[in-house]
Amino acid sequence: MNKLYGLLGHPVGHSMSPLMHNDAFKQLGINGYYHAFDVPEDKLKEAVDALRLFNISGLNVTIPHKVTIMEFLDEIDEEALMIGAVNTVVNIEGRLIGYNTDGRGYLTSLLTKLNKPLKDSNVLVIGAGGAARGIVTALANDGVALLTIANRTIEKADEIKNHYLKYREANINVLPLKKAQLNLARYDIVINTTSIGMSPRVDEVPISIDHIKQTAVLSDLIYNPIETKLLQLGNKKGIITHNGVGMFVEQGALAFLKWTGKQPDTEKMTKIVMQQLGGSTC
Ligand code: NAP
Repeated sequence: MNKLYGLLGHPVGHSMSPLMHNDAFKQLGINGYYHAFDVPEDKLKEAVDALRLFNISGLNVTIPHKVTIMEFLDEIDEEALMIGAVNTVVNIEGRLIGYNTDGRGYLTSLLTKLNKPLKDSNVLVIGAGGAARGIVTALANDGVALLTIANRTIEKADEIKNHYLKYREANINVLPLKKAQLNLARYDIVINTTSIGMSPRVDEVPISIDHIKQTAVLSDLIYNPIETKLLQLGNKKGIITHNGVGMFVEQGALAFLKWTGKQPDTEKMTKIVMQQLGGSTC
């Protein structure tokens, strides 16, 4: 029998997940089908009830439901609890288990670009929104030399730090954006998790990279555009850059693995996503 999977979000019209997952089912000979369900904010409870009723095997969860869905699930994995949000649900014989593959997916992708071990790296995370939570948790769980969060609203950066410290000890520092910009030469990895530079405001950058180290890795979670203004400036300087496509693909691949026990072909997934974004895979 065909197993049903899906995405819960609002809006979901432009999601690349159905194409990516349905192709992976086909490639691996799995009888699965993935559908994007547009679920308004106030209808999440009904959507989760329907998921149980129709025995849907697995889900991705996106904005605005990543936090709210937690109260409707039967169990939540530790990293998802630490992040405070769920982006993947697995239905195991009627028990709905919530995971978060965002941070881990991001790290899997970032590791392919690093020129020194993560544990020896001084990392700056710019931004303290939903995406930053996953990134900070995964980085701190894996261990880095020093982790700094810089955000326009400093209280939000403090909140992420304090939430993490409720679970584990970690060397996390919080700075105003301006100060992080002045100190930029200290960081081995600089990660933009803000929405600054995302289409249509493609000419904006979250921070000046004038003082960035020549050996630094500059990463941007944004994939629309594939190469943000920030990454263009990094490329001009000749430093290593890393865009958000890898995170999108790897978080999806990890979810797929949790649902099916099978590892999808992430190169093929990347090709599909790049085609959707109008870029090339070269
Ligand atoms: P969010 O929760 O709304 O957080 C937005 C962040 O951007 C906050 O830190 C906010 O600062 C900052 N910000 C926004 N406008 C700003 C401005 N004008 N000046 C200074 N700071 C500003 O969003 P999110 O869910 O974390 O997503 C952030 C980005 O990550 C988006 O571009 C999204 O597309 C991308 N993303 C990519 C993936 C992937 O798979 N590659 C996955 C998730 C997200 P304040 O706290 O001060 O408001």
